[in-house]
Amino acid sequence: MEKNCEGLPGCKKKKDKLSLLKRAQNFISTTTKHVAGGMKNINDTDYMIRIRTCNTCDKLSGGNTCSMCGCYIPTKARWEVSDCPLNKWKK
Ligand code: SF4
Repeated sequence: MEKNCEGLPGCKKKKDKLSLLKRAQNFISTTTKHVAGGMKNINDTDYMIRIRTCNTCDKLSGGNTCSMCGCYIPTKARWEVSDCPLNKWKK
């Protein structure tokens, strides 16, 4: 597809933009929850359990980003209020 195909059938640019928008919405939503929840972090043991779970998940992209929510896992996994979109993290 040509470089200036935005909006045409088969163009992936629109999809990428929506994905970026969704990522931004998720980031704002999670950050808002984190701040409203007192910016609490989980302990190192629970953090490592979350990281290990993500490292074995087929939704992990590029080694550090969740393809389901678009969040940066090393940060998201530390925040107490964060959730796995597939409920793979222990509660
Ligand atoms: S947050 Fe959940 S869905 Fe995303 S990579 Fe981690 S385990 Fe997989």
